[in-house]
This record gives sequence, C-alpha cells and structure tokens, in this order.
Amino acid sequence: MISVEEALEKILKEVEVLNEEKVPILNALGQVLAEDIKSDITIPPLDNSAMDGYAVISRDTAGASESSPRVLRVIDTVMAGSISRKEVTPGTAVRIMTGAAVPKGADCVVQFENTDEDERKKSAISEPYTQVGILAETTPGLNIRRTGEDISRGATVLLKGTVLRPSEIGLLASLGQTHVTVIRRPVVAVLATGNELVSIDKPLSEGKIYDSNTYSIASLVQRYGAIPKILGIARDTEEELVSKLRQVEDADMLLSTGGVSMGDYDMVKDILARDGEMVFWKVRVKPGKPLAFGKIKATGKGNRTRIIPHLGLPGNAVSCMVSFELFVRPALLKMMGKTMVAKPTVQAIIEDNIKNNAGRRLYDRAITERRNGKYYARLTGPQGSGILSSMGLANSLVIIPEDRKEVRKGEVVQALMLDWNEEVSL
Ligand code: AMP
Ligand code: MG
Repeated sequence: MISVEEALEKILKEVEVLNEEKVPILNALGQVLAEDIKSDITIPPLDNSAMDGYAVISRDTAGASESSPRVLRVIDTVMAGSISRKEVTPGTAVRIMTGAAVPKGADCVVQFENTDEDERKKSAISEPYTQVGILAETTPGLNIRRTGEDISRGATVLLKGTVLRPSEIGLLASLGQTHVTVIRRPVVAVLATGNELVSIDKPLSEGKIYDSNTYSIASLVQRYGAIPKILGIARDTEEELVSKLRQVEDADMLLSTGGVSMGDYDMVKDILARDGEMVFWKVRVKPGKPLAFGKIKATGKGNRTRIIPHLGLPGNAVSCMVSFELFVRPALLKMMGKTMVAKPTVQAIIEDNIKNNAGRRLYDRAITERRNGKYYARLTGPQGSGILSSMGLANSLVIIPEDRKEVRKGEVVQALMLDWNEEVSL
C-alpha cells in the first residue's frame, strides 16, 4: 500500500493547470490571475483633499490658534467630483469636501475641527461660509492626497499568478476593469454509487439510506472554488455505472463515492481498471484506505473524447470527506493554478489517548483550539468512518503517524486545520 505522500504525488503528477478564461471581476474571487495587470490611468487622478475642511495657503495660517484665529474670506465650496474654478489667493479659502480636487493656489487643507465653522453656524450674527477662522497652524501639503500616490499610469499593479482576494477585485474595479483573465474553475462531476442509496427528495424505504456523499462532496468542490456537476446515483450494476460515466461530458475531473472496497458489488475500481487506467488503489491512511485513482475517457459534446482524472472515493461518509481534503483539494487547487495546495497544520497538545493499531496514518476528527497561547486538540467522539456527526463537530484532523501504535494525552501532535475559528462555533 502506498503512503499519503506517494498517493498525492501520483495524483498531482497527472493533473494539469487548466486554461484561462475572461470573466466578470466579481466571478474571479479566489481565482488565479492569468495576466499582468497594468494601469491605464493615474490614481488619484488629481491632487485632492483627504479631509472635509478648507483649502488654504499654509502661510496664511502662521500663528493661528484657538485664541488667535486667522480669519479668511471663503470664496467657493467644492464637492467630491467637482472642480472649483476659483483660485485661492492670500487671505482666501475654499470650503472643500473629502475627495474633491484641491483648487489652484491652495497648498493644504485645514480640517473642519481646526476651524470655527461650527461656532459660526450656531451664531446668528455672522452668516456661515462667507468667512472662516483658522484655529491652528498648518504646513504645506497637509491633508492633500497627491496625484498618482496610489497608482501611476503604466504601472504594473498585479502580477500573473496572484490569487484574487476582495482587495484585488476592488483594485481591478478602481482601474475600471470589468473583466479579468484567470485560470478557469474546474468542473467536477460527482457520482454516488450504491443500491442502498436514495435521493434526498424521495421517501426512504426499508434498508435504504439517503445519499449524503453527493452533497458533502459537491459542497467541498464549491468551497474550494470549483464547479460541481451532480450526476446522481448509480446502482451497483455495470450498465448503470457505464451509462452514468457517459454523462461526465465536459467535466475536468470525476469524483465517485463508494464501490471501491472489497464487497462483491464494488465495481467502480474494476470498471476503472477496464475502461480507463488505474494508477493506484488503496492508501496507507485511516479513514480512506480504499481510495482508487486513475484516468477515464470522458465523451463530451460532439463526441470529443478526453482523458480526465477520476478519484474513486470510499463510500463511507467521513472517509470520502477526509480523502477529499487530503487528495482532491490539492489536485483542484493545482488545476486552478495555485501553488500553495496544503491546508495549514498546527502543533497541538492532544487531550485524549489515541491508539493506532492499523499501521496506517490516522486522521482523527478533533476540535483544536488555542488556550493561553497554545493549541490543544480533543477528539469529537466516535471515529467510525461512517459517523458524519463527529465530522460535523470537528474543526481539524489530528494526525497520528503510521509507525506510532499509541499517542498519549499530553503529547504534541500535528493538527490539520479544516476550518479556522471564524468559521466554526466551538
Ligand atoms: P462502499 O464503499 O460502496 O462499500 O460503501 C461503504 C459505506 O458507505 C456503505 O455503508 C455505504 O452505504 C456508505 N455509502 C456509500 N455511498 C454513500 C452515499 N452516497 N451517502 C451515504 N453513505 C454512503
Ligand atoms: Mg457501495
């Protein structure tokens, strides 16, 4: 049986980075930029005010204080988006709002708080905005955002390979870009197999269970930025499996669940071996041993055939999710052009004794949390590979190496973080 590392290496070797596509910027969140982005414009386009206040000549404020205001004549008001045609000359000021262009002649902006505008508004004697008292000395350049201080025209602002986060999407918008070229999202066909399975929109009959894998796996596909294409449930017959496999069409990867263990009807791996190419079956891991990986022929539109990777995930509800995190996620991220494909791990002090008699690498469901600057991990309950509820309680998987028969409470283990705190209620 091959190790987790060997299995991952074999999978990553077989998957390729997908081609690029141009998409509306809002659809590009989390995707990898496939082009360098240069700016055609200067941002800000003009010197503008960083404050609501008065644009003045700094020399006019010399010696100004609360007790000795310098009174200036207000000659205009300018809002963001407008340009004042007036010029500030000694003894005058232009009332200015944040983002408005600084008028000619002015070399700084005095914020409202350093003027007597409020007093004047309150007092009945003088009409506001014809005069203003400056209550503090200022220096040239104060509260002015300079032309091009953010981005100069022609500058490369984003490099090919960048993963687009909300700040980068905003940056693209600030350049006036409606679309962006990114590595496209993989389409992942999801197929459940098993005579015992019932679709969630149908009544349960005796001896049957609902197909949950389709939904946990399709959600994982979505979470990591790919597009699930649900194929439904195939009974354990060769005809049904083969006919479902025909619906894979233009998907970039096939994920099936079930049908890869030792049972009489576990024919996914047999069909994979016959109609495709089986790269490996079984990994030294628990849960998730009977993982099968290979390549199958997918017939798409116009009878075009392509060879796509197929991961035959184990049927047990937890096994298939753990296999996804360990093997499918890195493959999808590579297809999306990402180079960081590993989930974060932390060193945690284990709070339970754990036995590992299987001689495989154990990934046990746990809650890992930080207390007094250290991480602690405790198991979420029964670890049977079909017990989805204990997966639901977990935010992490603690890793027990294959050569450790036992780990005792208080020892330090690696915890693979599935979710960080903001995403789970502990
Ligand atoms: P198999 O690998 O096909 O033998 O399945 C192993 C276990 O996983 C069996 O108990 C199945 O009933 C269960 N199982 C398989 N597929 C699903 C599914 N789509 N949803 C929930 N449980 C499943
Ligand atoms: Mg089955």
